[in-house]
Amino acid sequence: MNAGHGNEAFVAFEHVQKSYDGETLVVKDLNLKIGQGEFLTMLGPSGSGKTTCLMMLAGFETATHGEIRLAGRPINNIPPHKRGIGMVFQNYALFPHMTVGENLAFPLEVRKMSKAEIEAKVKRALDMVQMGAFAGRRPAQLSGGQQQRIALARALVFDAELVLMDEPLGALDKQLREHMQFEIKHIHERLGVTVVYVTHDQGEALTMSDRIAVFNDGRIQQLAPPEDLYERPENGFVAQFIGENNTLEGTVETIGQGNCTVRLGDGSVIDALPVNVSRAGERTLLSIRPERAEFNLDRLPEGTHTVKAEVLEFIYMGDIFRIRLRIAGNENFVIKCRNAVGQRRLRPGEVIDVGWLPQDCRALEAA
Ligand code: ADP
Repeated sequence: MNAGHGNEAFVAFEHVQKSYDGETLVVKDLNLKIGQGEFLTMLGPSGSGKTTCLMMLAGFETATHGEIRLAGRPINNIPPHKRGIGMVFQNYALFPHMTVGENLAFPLEVRKMSKAEIEAKVKRALDMVQMGAFAGRRPAQLSGGQQQRIALARALVFDAELVLMDEPLGALDKQLREHMQFEIKHIHERLGVTVVYVTHDQGEALTMSDRIAVFNDGRIQQLAPPEDLYERPENGFVAQFIGENNTLEGTVETIGQGNCTVRLGDGSVIDALPVNVSRAGERTLLSIRPERAEFNLDRLPEGTHTVKAEVLEFIYMGDIFRIRLRIAGNENFVIKCRNAVGQRRLRPGEVIDVGWLPQDCRALEAA
C-alpha cells in the first residue's frame, strides 16, 4: 500500500457532504485520503452513501459542501471527461453496435490520438485482460465475464491513473466473481493504478483491498486494512458487518490498562479487552469471533475464564462443525470447530464450558 507515502494524498475528500433533496444528508462530513497506487474499497450496506461518494469523485454528482482533490488539485468544477478517470460499472456499459476493439478505441479517439497509437494501446489493454483474440467480436457475442473484462480494459486503455469501480462483479456468478477478484487485484498490482472500488460484499472487499472504508448511514465507521477490520473492529456496526460475530451484553466491573472484567447477564464475570469503554458500571457489547471461542479447554491457557453454554445445535459441515449455543441469554452464539481427528461431537441439550482469550473478546460501546 502506498497510502501515507509523500505528504499529499492522491485523492482527498475534505469535509464533503451531499444532499439530494436539500434536507437529508446522505454523505456526512466525509474526510478520506487515498494514496497513489492504493486499492481502496468503500464497503457498506445498500443506501449507506458509497455510490454517491464515487459519483462525486467521478464528477457525475456535485458535493453540497466540502472539497474533493485529485493529485492536489480541487476538481469540484472539472467536468467528468476532463478528470482522466476510468470507470467500470456493474452493467458493463459497452456500446452494443461496436466491436470490442472499437469500444476500446473510442475513449482514445475522443482524446484525438493517432491511429497507430490507438492500435497499440487497444492491443495492450486487451492483452492485459487476456482478451487479445476477441477484438473483432461484438459485446453480445461475449459471456458476462468476458464483457466485464472488456469494460475493465476500456477503463485502463487511456492510462488513467485512477479507476473507479462500482459493483463491477455484481452480475457474475460466484465462481467467476471470485476469479475476477483475483484478476482485478493482479492487474492493480501490475499497473500500480489507484483503484476506488464500491461493493456491499465483504468477502470481495477483504480479498482485494489495501484498505477498506466501512460506510454506514453516510459516514465512515472505520477505515483500515482488511486484517485490522476483522481482527480489531472499533464499533458494533463494523464487528457485525465484517465476518461472523457473536455479541454478549454486559456491564464493566473493573477496568485497567488493556484489560477489563465484564459481568454478563447470567452473573458470570469474564476478562475482555476494553476497546471503547472507559469506566466501571458502563454497559458494553462484547464481540467475539466464532473461530476464537473454544470448548476444548486444554487449548486455552490455564486460568482463562470460561462461561457455561448450552448446546442448541451441532451442524456437520464437512471440514468444520458449526455449533449454536445459548450463552448468558444469547441463543445465537455460534462457534466453529475443526473436524479434527478425535474431535468429540456434542449433543443438543448438553452443557459445556466455553472460553476465549481476553484479547479476542472486545468490549465495545453499547449501542
Ligand atoms: P449505496 O451506494 O451505499 O447503496 P447511495 O450512495 O446509492 O448508497 O445512496 C445513498 C442515499 O442517497 C440513499 O438513501 C439513496 O436513496 C439516496 N440517493 C442516491 N442517489 C440519489 C438520487 N439521484 N436522487 C435522490 N436520492 C438519491
